[in-house]
Amino acid sequence: MAGPPPKPWPTGEAQQLEPLVRRVLAPNPSPYTFTGTQTYIVGLGDGCAVIDPGPAQDDHVLALDAAIGDEHVCAIMCTHTHRDHSPAAKPLAARTGAPIIGCAPLVLDDTGPRADASFDRGYEPDRVLEDGEAMNGPGWTLTAVATPGHVSNHLCYALGESGALFTGDHVMGWSTSVVVPPDGDMGDYMRSLDKLHAREDRVYYPAHGEAIDKPRQLVRGMMGHRRQRENQILRHLHDDPHRAEEFVPKMYKGLDEKLHGAAKMSVTAHLIDLERRGLVTRSGELWETVSRAT
Ligand SMILES: [Zn+2]
Repeated sequence: MAGPPPKPWPTGEAQQLEPLVRRVLAPNPSPYTFTGTQTYIVGLGDGCAVIDPGPAQDDHVLALDAAIGDEHVCAIMCTHTHRDHSPAAKPLAARTGAPIIGCAPLVLDDTGPRADASFDRGYEPDRVLEDGEAMNGPGWTLTAVATPGHVSNHLCYALGESGALFTGDHVMGWSTSVVVPPDGDMGDYMRSLDKLHAREDRVYYPAHGEAIDKPRQLVRGMMGHRRQRENQILRHLHDDPHRAEEFVPKMYKGLDEKLHGAAKMSVTAHLIDLERRGLVTRSGELWETVSRAT
């Protein structure tokens, strides 16, 4: 992961990216969110959609209010329900009367690993979009592109009129996406990368970091990066059985200590995927290659 660019950041300002798209940066920078969550407003002034309203921080909701002005909000659309993406949907819906349309809520158990504090449990959509379903407003069409992997309920949104794709946390320029099992799934993530690679989108607008203007090239690079990680894991396992955390210092040299937990999660996500494919096996916390085990 790269560090954030030097300040000042345009926190709270509405930036016009193209005729149909404005962006407002939320004040929630962190090692996981880069400069913060970016909320997108899609529309020409006579009815808009708000994509990834962001964290429920008063100053961000006020900045969105100012950017929207008197414009009618047709829909509030979340790519997924991590706490830096969807919680502002509720206060924004209360202020504007707009419906919440888009990703499904996650069914989380009360106990166990899926009851993760990073998920927004208060998310209640008025309408869920399935893969390929569209939401229309004046002069725009946003079509859901199901992209599970980072989390199971992740959707990207394709803006038909301009060839832009809002990629949420699925593909970002500043960092690879964190895949946290069991809800995050590396096999799904790779299939969702394939899915984007087969598309012809002109530009990606991720929830964190700058717009990506050579999207297929970036996706191809990410697919290669994941395959490389997978090969590294298999090479280390060929030498010795490993616990997941033992891969991190070998594979992520120089990584900020704060991100070691996330790196371990990514390694674990790869291991689970390799296990499903019959290439590795585990006993307790120890992973080994299948050829070594037999
Ligand atoms: Zn996320």
